[in-house]
Amino acid sequence: MPSDEPRTDPGGAGDPAAGADRGADIQRALRERPSFSIRARIGLGFLLLFLLSLGISIASLLILTRVEHKLLFLEAAGSYLFELQQARRFEKNFFLYGTNLEDALEHVRAAKRILHEQGGDVARVVGRDRLAATVGHVERYEDLLQGVARGVESGEDAGSRARRFEGELRTHGAEMVLMSERLVAKERESINTMLDVSRRIPIVFLVLLLLLSLYVANFLARQILAPLNRLMQDTRRIAQGVFTPIPPRRRYRDELSELAMALNHMMRELAHRQDLLVQAHKLKAIGTLAAGVAHELNNPLHNIMLTAESLREDWRGLSDEDRLDMVRDLVDQSERARRIIRNLLDFTRESEMKADLLQVNDLVTETLALVSNQVKLAKVKVVRRPGENLPPVHGDRQQLNQVLLNLILNATDAMPGGGTLTVTTALSPERDFVVIEVADTGVGIPDHILPNIFDPFFTTKPQGKGTGLGLSVSLGIVRHHGGDIRVHSRAGRGTTFEVLLPVARVPA
Ligand code: ADP
Repeated sequence: MPSDEPRTDPGGAGDPAAGADRGADIQRALRERPSFSIRARIGLGFLLLFLLSLGISIASLLILTRVEHKLLFLEAAGSYLFELQQARRFEKNFFLYGTNLEDALEHVRAAKRILHEQGGDVARVVGRDRLAATVGHVERYEDLLQGVARGVESGEDAGSRARRFEGELRTHGAEMVLMSERLVAKERESINTMLDVSRRIPIVFLVLLLLLSLYVANFLARQILAPLNRLMQDTRRIAQGVFTPIPPRRRYRDELSELAMALNHMMRELAHRQDLLVQAHKLKAIGTLAAGVAHELNNPLHNIMLTAESLREDWRGLSDEDRLDMVRDLVDQSERARRIIRNLLDFTRESEMKADLLQVNDLVTETLALVSNQVKLAKVKVVRRPGENLPPVHGDRQQLNQVLLNLILNATDAMPGGGTLTVTTALSPERDFVVIEVADTGVGIPDHILPNIFDPFFTTKPQGKGTGLGLSVSLGIVRHHGGDIRVHSRAGRGTTFEVLLPVARVPA
């Protein structure tokens, strides 16, 4: 059945100027879109990947640096706690055994030094107020120890010393140790949190990488593979001779748009050349026809000459009736000559596609009349099987004659030693198409070339004899009429071409 692919216009029918204008508009639309090249898109995709990796790397590096810093601080906090614990141990020793007071003082000073050096970090962890309180406790603790030392120097007895200082020393000592323990615990907790985060970073990175890769892959598929696929389909239809320009289909112009523009340019050139070749093919067919027509014209002209000659010579001896007969004969013969010439002119005339109501049997009669001489010379017997009461078709008489002429001349060429040409017309079983069947008993078409015979410029005929355009032009014309051409062939047995034309729906 007729395919629904875009109609082609290989025969050059339609308005070529309008076609060229549309082609130029499409080219301009293709060219004038904002440009966003594939190279830039791929670059952008990789830049995003790079930025993601960079972000993740910087985050990891920062976390590691902070962990390192915190570990150092933790070490200092550990030393601070140790110094305080030592001071307290020696303080207890002093109150139990009266020894180590100097050691206790030394350790408290060491702790104070550490607190002073790490003040900023301590404030960050526990807050400024707590730091001030801690410093207060440590200084008070040191003061108290110094007070004890002064008491020892002034010979105060152990009992009253203990009463004066022990209670307060214990309170401040406990506070200091408690606070430093809290400090260490808090810092450890914060390090653990950071390590937790840095453990999660690679997983987050992998998930983001996966999402971004999926996005980039999908983006590339949409932006590159899909248009490539469409262009491939376009090249397929171009190969079939459909030269409709490729319109812009996306918002941005890129390298594929350049390709589309190049293809459009190529199609314009191809269409132009094909038009020239189609014209050449037609001229060649006209040449063939002209030879036949010249031969055909010979007969009536010869008869006219003979009759006119006899009229001149026998004028006086002829009755009026005979003279009238001879003049009638002259008129008939001239009419025949005129018809032959009109047929040839009809074929050669350039015309826009017209849509008339046509009877296919009339088309067959007209075309066979046009080629009767060649067919006779090629010793081909013509058998006609016209279908009865066929509905009309809508179409261009001249173009459809050209189709039949191509098929009949091909059939004649396929029977070099003569044969039978059978032209049948009928209604398709579904009654929606009128079928014209042109069958020959010629050489047939080998299976391996059968798929190519409708391709433009495909010919097996010797150079100078075939252009390879007859069938492609004919298929173009028939598809333009909403129909199709089918072919069956058996090598050595003959070929049958079926031209299907949709039945014209005539309003009642
Ligand atoms: P051309 O006649 O100029 O070669 P066509 O497009 O009309 O171009 O035909 C293409 C080819 O199809 C022919 O060269 C021939 O090989 C084959 N062909 C067409 N019609 C017939 C036929 N009736 N019998 C055998 N081969 C045919």
